[in-house]
This record gives sequence, C-alpha cells and structure tokens, in this order.
Amino acid sequence: MRKIAVLTSGGDSPGMNAAVRSVVRTAIFNGIEAYGVYHGYKGLVEGKIKKLECGDVGNIINRGGTFLGSARLEQFKEKEVRNIAIKNLKKLGIEGLVVIGGDGTYRGALALSKETDIKIIGMPGTIDNDISGTDFTIGFDTALNTIVESIDKIRDTASSHERVFIIEVMGRDAGDLALYAGIASGSESIIIPEKKESIDTLVERLIQAEKRGKKHSIIILAEGVMSAPDLAAIIKEKYGINVKYTILGHIQRGGAPSGIDRILASRLGNYAVELLIKNENAKAVGIKNNKLVNEKLEKILKTKHKLDLKIFEISRQLSI
Ligand code: ADP
Repeated sequence: MRKIAVLTSGGDSPGMNAAVRSVVRTAIFNGIEAYGVYHGYKGLVEGKIKKLECGDVGNIINRGGTFLGSARLEQFKEKEVRNIAIKNLKKLGIEGLVVIGGDGTYRGALALSKETDIKIIGMPGTIDNDISGTDFTIGFDTALNTIVESIDKIRDTASSHERVFIIEVMGRDAGDLALYAGIASGSESIIIPEKKESIDTLVERLIQAEKRGKKHSIIILAEGVMSAPDLAAIIKEKYGINVKYTILGHIQRGGAPSGIDRILASRLGNYAVELLIKNENAKAVGIKNNKLVNEKLEKILKTKHKLDLKIFEISRQLSI
C-alpha cells in the first residue's frame, strides 16, 4: 500500500475532521502517501483529489463539520458513474480508500469495491448511531451533549411556565439520540421508534405525574416516530392539554467534537489504515465493548442496528 485516499460523505458529523486527521497521519507515519477527496463521492467523480501532508490536517481535531466537505450524489448508484471514480483514483495510483459516513456511504463503498481492486474501508460517521457493526458512531456523543445542554435550558422555562414540552431530536429511524438524551436530561417521557406506545398511554402518564405533584414534563420525541407539531396537535385535540414544542434541528449536527468523539475518531482512523496495510477490503471498522472491531460491509448493511432496550426500561424506572 503506497497511496491511500480518504473522503467524508452523506450527513456531516462532529469528529469527521479528527477521523480524517487520524487517517492521514497514520498513513504518513507508515510511509504511505495520503490524499483527500473533496465533497464525498461527488468529488471522487469530479476528480477533486488532493495530496495531503501532516500540516494540512493540523488544527482541525477541534473543529466540527468536515474540512473536506460532504455531498450527496444520487448518480453514484450508477455503475458508469462509479467507473469514472475508479479511473480518477487509478490515475493517481491510489490503492486504498477510506470512506467516512453513514449507511448510504457504506452502500456506495460496497458497490465500488465489487468493481475495482482498490481496497476500501468504511468508518462510521453520523450523529444518528444507526449503523450496525459498532456500539457508537463518530459524532453521536457530541450531538448527545448538544441535545442535553439544550434540554437543560428548556427545562428551566418548562418548570417556570409551561407544564409540558415536547423536544424533537434527530436520529432518522433510530431512537439512540432520543433515548440517551432522555436519560441524561432526566426527561419524563421518551418516544422512540423501537418502543412505540400509544398517545393514550403517554397522556395517562403525564396526568399521573401531575397528580403526583410534577410541575412540568419533558417529552423527548425521536424524529423517526412523528414530528413534534403533529404530536402536540394530537394531544391538544384529543385531551385539551396545551403542549409547547421545540425542534432542535441542525444545531445537533454542529459544534466542536467532544473528547469521546475525538478519541473514537482517532482510534478508528488509525485502525482503518492498519487494515488497509494488511490488504483488508470491503470492511468497516467499529468499536464494541471498547475494542476495535471490523466486519464485512455486506454483513453490516444486512444487519439492523439494535438499540439496547434495557436502557429504556431504566429510563422508565427513573422518571416516576
Ligand atoms: P449517509 O452516508 O449519511 O447515510 P446518504 O444516504 O446520503 O448518507 O449516502 C451518501 C452517498 O452515498 C449518496 O449521496 C450516494 O452518493 C452514495 N450512495 C448511497 N446509496 C448508494 C447505493 N445504493 N449505491 C451506490 N452509492 C450509494
């Protein structure tokens, strides 16, 4: 392995910069030239590939987003388009590629790996924590902390003024952000796709909590279930209860990465290059029980990410 490239793709997440830095520096440390691909698969097809030196990834470990830029390119699903990407990599003599992103990015990587001898390794970069093959994705911890900080602020006004607040958080179809944030903020209710409950049950709990003397209730709603305005409207219409809501939106994706995300990104980036040096291919790296692991992309994409529902039970017990 003499030359490798790295790209970030799909939704950005805090820690992607730390991941790129780790890949680039590990490569250079091992005598391998490192290249950065700008704007994900789009840049790969457009040939936006630049050699990176150690200094090019200096001063970025602390920055959110991704300095390489990210993009979405629907046409990457077409073989002819992927062919152009392969030609661009070949032109530069690149023998290994690290892609950092979510499951869409992994799908692109798997398709590409079937059409070239360039070795490809995936790294999980998304705030949603919705990829199997790892306990945690790069960016999840930072987003979680951003959400918790926001809920703490909303709690102040919830207890001063309004009785019930719904806070809608990201996560796509996964409830991880909602569940973890719900526990960490001591929220009264957590509504996630993995553990659906009827709105009747939710409201019953609100009423019981009020009877027990709770001054306010905070409901954390995962975006994969429904939108906060819709839930507020149903509660108002069916039960006559006024509910305020906040959609946290894209603030969840930004900000300086947490220490945990920087460390995760650094470890996984180092490991991804280690695998390339060993000529591994079509795999993705992850962390399980604090151990670095790798798994075939094909298997990861076929396996649904599982949320630990024991944590949900704990949240129920603690929010009485
Ligand atoms: P994420 O990686 O965050 O899940 P996306 O789902 O948008 O983000 O995927 C990122 C990019 O990966 C897409 O814009 C597209 O270029 C590529 N991609 C997604 N699915 C496929 C697929 N089935 N085949 C080839 N490329 C894909």
